Amino acid sequence: MKVLVTVKRVVDYAVKVRVKPDGSGVDLSNVKMSMNPFCEIAVEEAVRLKESKVASEVIVASVGPSQSSEQIRTALAMGADRGIHVEVEQELPPSVVSRALKFIVLKEKPSLVILGKQAIDDDCNQTGQMLAQILDWPQGTFVSKVKVEGEKVQVTREVDRGLETLELRLPAIITCDLRLNEPRYATLPNIMKAKKKPVEKLGLKDLNCDPLHGIQTLSVFEPHKRQGGNKVESVAELIDKLRNEAKVI
Ligand code: AMP
Repeated sequence: MKVLVTVKRVVDYAVKVRVKPDGSGVDLSNVKMSMNPFCEIAVEEAVRLKESKVASEVIVASVGPSQSSEQIRTALAMGADRGIHVEVEQELPPSVVSRALKFIVLKEKPSLVILGKQAIDDDCNQTGQMLAQILDWPQGTFVSKVKVEGEKVQVTREVDRGLETLELRLPAIITCDLRLNEPRYATLPNIMKAKKKPVEKLGLKDLNCDPLHGIQTLSVFEPHKRQGGNKVESVAELIDKLRNEAKVI
């Protein structure tokens, strides 16, 4: 069974982002970029499926600028077999990315597509769900356990009331939560081997995809500065402040 796993290049989780002075977006100059942490979990799960002989091939796909090839190479060094890079210079919303991924799915015919539950740059949490919708495939989101059994995959989902177990018919879409696994570090020999693994390059035109389909960013601004907190001496004072100052009770 083929597994397709998707990786997004995002601002590293440790970077404190700054908004561009003209409000057109986030300043990405000289900022450390990395693989989205939830995508690392997705790659790890796909590679484990291959190591346990459930998957025969792991393909990694990314839609992004030329530098996204770094994240594809990282996934290849973690154990994926080959890459597909849809090269686009502009930032695309999930509505367009999911359409580009649909094209790759129809071309590669994987039995399982594993995505991160969300990208930490836009926190959209939409791409997996949109991809499932446009393919009309079953989906298991926020997954913390995966078990493939024949033509089905059993997933455990983290939901508000606890854990939910679902059985999905393959082919299916999965989005990974934090507790699914702990991603490995790529070793130096594997980083060297990954340089020789094939990566196919495509453009949005090859995918018949309109980059303007979707949302348009009108302006980006910093969150308002938070005012300092106050310590109160008693419960009575707290209630008084909530009632008369904050006016929330
Ligand atoms: P999002 O819906 O933007 O929060 O992203 C959820 C997941 O979809 C990510 O963790 C990735 O696995 C996948 N994804 C989103 N954007 C891209 C992209 N440009 N290229 C590849 N995968 C993506």
